[in-house]
Amino acid sequence: MYCFNCGKNINDRATSCIHCGVRVSPVLPPREGYALRDQGPLDSLLSLTCFMQPTLGIIFYLIWKNNSPTRAKAAMKWAVIGISVQFALIAIGMLFATSFMSSAYIAYP
Ligand SMILES: [Zn+2]
Repeated sequence: MYCFNCGKNINDRATSCIHCGVRVSPVLPPREGYALRDQGPLDSLLSLTCFMQPTLGIIFYLIWKNNSPTRAKAAMKWAVIGISVQFALIAIGMLFATSFMSSAYIAYP
């Protein structure tokens, strides 16, 4: 069989890859191994990272979209929420800035 991590040919009964050392299961084919790993939801720290840095969330989405669709969707969801909040904050900031500028303009024509 082939190692799902490095792709090199390894012994069918091997429990770990002799090339890269990653644990491999001789029972599960590589794709199913990935599907099982995909079950875990996005942990809170990663959700927060995607929320604070939507660009990273999109990068995570691109990395995970093939192998971990559940995580990829969660990363994208948090990235979208993060972008929405950032845009909202920028909009509020601009509203304040324009009201300040117009009041300054009235005070000092
Ligand atoms: Zn390997």
